[in-house]
Amino acid sequence: MEVRPGPESRLLSALRISEIFASIQGEGRLAGTPSVFVRTSFCNLRCRWCDTPYTSWTPEFEWMDAASLGERVERLSAEHGTRHLVLTGGEPLLQAEALRPLCERWWHEGYHLTLETNATIFEPLAVHLASLSPKLRHSIPDTSQNGHGPELSFWHARTRLQPDVIRSFLDRYNGGNGRDCQVKFVVESERELGEIDSLAAQIPIPREKILLMPQVVETAKIPRAYASIRELCRRTGFGFSPRLHIERFGNRRGT
Ligand code: SF4
Repeated sequence: MEVRPGPESRLLSALRISEIFASIQGEGRLAGTPSVFVRTSFCNLRCRWCDTPYTSWTPEFEWMDAASLGERVERLSAEHGTRHLVLTGGEPLLQAEALRPLCERWWHEGYHLTLETNATIFEPLAVHLASLSPKLRHSIPDTSQNGHGPELSFWHARTRLQPDVIRSFLDRYNGGNGRDCQVKFVVESERELGEIDSLAAQIPIPREKILLMPQVVETAKIPRAYASIRELCRRTGFGFSPRLHIERFGNRRGT
């Protein structure tokens, strides 16, 4: 007897997608690598300075089934001559069930997968690089200024750091079996260093996994922001993450 997928399985395999595009990886240890990006919509956080508010504060999306998404990504990858794929958001792990079979297929077909996550949800997807970006205190939104109720600030403040989730990622993506991770903190100034140090000690996070990335979305402000965060990296021994896509294209969608 032929078993056809019912409506529930179609729902599980459909994804809310914000955009799919080819560009360069702008951040982290693979910065500069030509890649195809899948940006999922919706996030469980609301960072004050979110650079993709169209996936968090005011989510926009189209529904795509996993098969169409897979075809589009593979076509873009062939057209742009890259096997590097990046799952980003929003928070991609809100849609982990639908992403899981795609990741497994891409892994077995020899693509290199990076997952960019805010590290509040653990799902062991088949990816090579888990790029964790836990959110520090300065990400908490001031909802009195933006028309949202204070509940949103409380929710964000309570949810933003999940030490057990970060531990689970560090355990699984530990450099073995082709799986590794990096921990990328968005930093505005040295005020954030104390929080990073205490988190790194509490979890613990190996120092060599930690990157500091400037909180900057305006191209004109890049030189100054880079200089100050590079100086923090020099003093602390943490790695530096650029934002190459902002340098080259400005804060535009599809880059
Ligand atoms: S976790 Fe990322 S996508 Fe979500 S609100 Fe914060 S910066 Fe935006």
